[in-house]
Amino acid sequence: MTLMIYNDLTRTKEKFVPVREKHVSFYSCGPTVYDYFHIGNARPFIVFDVLRRYLEHLGYGVTFVQNFTDIDDKMISRANAEGITVAQLAERFIAEYYKDADALGIHRATIAPRATEHMAEIIGIIEKILQRGHAYVVETPSGSGDVYFDVKSYAPYGKLSKQSLDELEAGARVEVGEVKRHPLDFALWKAGKPGEPSWKSPWGRGRPGWHIECSAMSSKYLGETIDIHSGGVDLTFPHHENEAAQSEAAAGSGKNFVNYWLHNGFLLIDKGKMSKSLGNFITARAAREKYPPLAIRLFMLSAHYRSPINFAPEGLEQAAGGVTRLRNCWADLLHAPVGEGADGVTPFLEELKALDGRFYEVMDDDFNTAAAVGVLFEIVKLVNTWLKREHLPQAFFDAAEGALRKYDEILGVIGIEAAPDIDADEIKRLIEERAAVRKDKNFARSDEIRDALLARGIVLEDTPHGTKWKRKL
Ligand code: AMP
Ligand code: ZN
Repeated sequence: MTLMIYNDLTRTKEKFVPVREKHVSFYSCGPTVYDYFHIGNARPFIVFDVLRRYLEHLGYGVTFVQNFTDIDDKMISRANAEGITVAQLAERFIAEYYKDADALGIHRATIAPRATEHMAEIIGIIEKILQRGHAYVVETPSGSGDVYFDVKSYAPYGKLSKQSLDELEAGARVEVGEVKRHPLDFALWKAGKPGEPSWKSPWGRGRPGWHIECSAMSSKYLGETIDIHSGGVDLTFPHHENEAAQSEAAAGSGKNFVNYWLHNGFLLIDKGKMSKSLGNFITARAAREKYPPLAIRLFMLSAHYRSPINFAPEGLEQAAGGVTRLRNCWADLLHAPVGEGADGVTPFLEELKALDGRFYEVMDDDFNTAAAVGVLFEIVKLVNTWLKREHLPQAFFDAAEGALRKYDEILGVIGIEAAPDIDADEIKRLIEERAAVRKDKNFARSDEIRDALLARGIVLEDTPHGTKWKRKL
């Protein structure tokens, strides 16, 4: 099996080969913590969570870094509007981020660095870029300096967006009062203004530009060349283009910053991009008050991560119905009386194996979760058909349980709780002992065994074909 990933840098599907064997360095751009995140922002958080889980499932050790942007214009204006400090605002919305992300089953990042806690690294990387001649300082009236990246000095600029400097320039927006050599030059460091948080730097007090934090924090935690960098498609330009230019300009000697660039498609609402600035957004908080978190995950994974997806009540309701079907199958499986042995189970195991192979095939094809979800429902159909049978041997139960647990660990759409400690062999031994003591009319010991198993969530059922056990829900 070969994992193929669509790389936005080459616009082709490529075989995934990490820098370090069996290890993946993965950086995903995180939220600006000035408000609750909306359901469009939830898309990258959920889909890249699943990509990471799949890589872990394949046996890679994954270092997953997702930053918090805790200083920028939006942070400053919101903090001022609320009469609190930027740090207090960040603290509040990082806590709110985790409430929503945890509820949506998004595994926490290995490292979740904040821009304001990495000023030394940010200043350090800007100094390197200056030393290598790819940036310049512009004095401002306050006496502090702005530092700009010099796009003309960096020949590969535009390599990710696949556009020349001239083409990019046509779409550039020039802010009033900026003193730049080229309209596409962007701020690495901004001179401080009164009433704004600022940090000491070689260019006077100021604060970092947006893009530089990701370059600084990614090289600190993942090194100069990383395997995967991800974010929404809107980040391709300018954010990721600028990150690549900064990181590669700082590293020098033709080093590649990112080997695989991955971008998720937009979540649309009424055919337009959902965004804060358009005012057409629904917060993840509001969405999960209306729909079960598992349904939100299933909805997001029912499309390929690069395709656009339309946020509409029908889609969410359909996903909620899907989650009910998944959970019912799991509950029925746990309730199913388990017999012994493996009689007649071969056709089931064969069909399951074929579907399982298909699951890996589609996930290996650029993480096609839409197809993987389809496979999961086929497996549920298969399990449900077998659950109607009178005789369910242990081997059926073990295979079905193992499969559903595995898909849930990767996709997180069934909501299976951590496994209770159940040792089927031990249960079998206790059932045999109970049968023996009952023959001797030692009902005290027989009841003791039944009660002890019940306390561990196992129900015994005496049938004409012997004693079967099942889990209590
Ligand atoms: P922000 O906090 O605005 O930087 O956004 C956090 C993440 O959400 C980034 O990866 C964005 O690209 C992504 N994003 C923002 N809006 C959408 C949307 N409507 N659909 C999908 N992803 C989005
Ligand atoms: Zn970033």
